[in-house]
Amino acid sequence: MNRREFLSAAAVAGVAGVAQPAKAAPAVKIVGIQVGAVSFVDEGVEKVLDIFQQSAGVNTLFIATFTYGRGIAGRQIPGQPMPDHGKPEHDTDTFHGGSYTVTHPQYYKDTAIQDFRAPEFGDFDVLESVLPSAHRRGMKTICWFEDVFAGKGAGIPGIAKAQEKRLDGANAETLCFNNPNYSNWLLGTVEDYARSHEIDGIMWGSERQGAFANMLASRQDPSAVTCFCEFCQRKAKARGIDPERAREGFRALSKFVQQAWQGRRPVDGYYVAVWRLMLRYPEMLAWEMLWTDSLRETYAAMHKKVKEVKPAIGIGWHIWHQNSFNPIYRAEQDLAAISPYSDFLKMVMYHNCAGERMANYIGTVGRTMYGDVPLPELLDFHYRVLDYKQEKELAEIPKTGLTANYVYEEAARARAALVGAATKLWPGIDIDIPTAASSSKSTPEGTGDAVKAAFRAGADGVILSRKYSEMKLANLRGAGAAMRELGLA
Ligand SMILES: [Zn+2]
Repeated sequence: MNRREFLSAAAVAGVAGVAQPAKAAPAVKIVGIQVGAVSFVDEGVEKVLDIFQQSAGVNTLFIATFTYGRGIAGRQIPGQPMPDHGKPEHDTDTFHGGSYTVTHPQYYKDTAIQDFRAPEFGDFDVLESVLPSAHRRGMKTICWFEDVFAGKGAGIPGIAKAQEKRLDGANAETLCFNNPNYSNWLLGTVEDYARSHEIDGIMWGSERQGAFANMLASRQDPSAVTCFCEFCQRKAKARGIDPERAREGFRALSKFVQQAWQGRRPVDGYYVAVWRLMLRYPEMLAWEMLWTDSLRETYAAMHKKVKEVKPAIGIGWHIWHQNSFNPIYRAEQDLAAISPYSDFLKMVMYHNCAGERMANYIGTVGRTMYGDVPLPELLDFHYRVLDYKQEKELAEIPKTGLTANYVYEEAARARAALVGAATKLWPGIDIDIPTAASSSKSTPEGTGDAVKAAFRAGADGVILSRKYSEMKLANLRGAGAAMRELGLA
């Protein structure tokens, strides 16, 4: 399939709400890889693209064009071994983050967020530097950016005008989807990408959840949950939700969570106590859905904007790994609901780090909502309700990771949820995502098995994740061996 055919297929996929006939689907599977600017700067554009094509048959680049986080940009993070390519140095002192491509002020007229160009590589523009070579090689290019303004992003002039408000009234480092300073920035960014560069697609991801899920399933200060800003309050009132009742409920839930972490068991037990609060303050669940709907409306608005500007450009979303662990978050990821404004979905299925992450999740909810349930039993319960059939017990999973069968089950579930939709399914595959020194590490065989499992379940492609600068070449070749076995490389 040539570039024109890919673009027209993407355009067809973009017609909102209409299931397209199968003949519109591109036959070529996407073999994608996530890569940040630092790798092209450190190793050279041609060399990096040679490695991608030769080792793994990569045909699509997911270039990190914006983030203030080190999960998709920058070199290897501190405390982790350096991979066998790139500069053998950490960049803790020099990493800044921001936009790795030039930004055009006309697209950011309606937002307070103005000054966000990443400074660490001077005038280097990752898109202008890579696109000519990618086009020459017939590789597609997707701009990949994420909802991360922490760290240096919290120091952008005027950013406070876009930040969320926490339950305790303080500003968070996260930005509010309902605040025009952020929503206009998101729309400006996709318009800038679509109009300024010959790209094939845009992917955006938000790894956050609403206040209710967050309070029960994270270890952060419960009074730091979001968002209770004036825009969210106004939107809540328009839906018939009383913001004061919601806040009162969350303050009560916050007290419960604080006492639970101190091991102070409620008279009727942890699970009953959470239910009592949900029944007394249903506004908390309404607030959670308000947050989820606000994210969906953000997806829909970005999709609409891109289709207005250049219908051939595909736009889709990175769906957070929490979807694999937390039934509440999974309930919020209704693929049938979001598919009309999703040309593709990158469903995160990082099997290796999933063992550690699942154990961590169980250890967290096992202190709050499920404080009365022994952790091994709680994990078994989650395997049942999440429908994982071959995973190991709690003491083992950090050291083994989850299996390739987990990737198969997650990809098959997503495939089934997308029946009748034109949305493409591109699972995210784990290559050397950081884990603790004593936890399991990626292997060539394990990586290859994950790739094969995704395709066996009917995926339309895979995205090797999270960033090339942390991947070992042997594991990238493990993915490549699977692609060759499947006839994709
Ligand atoms: Zn808000």
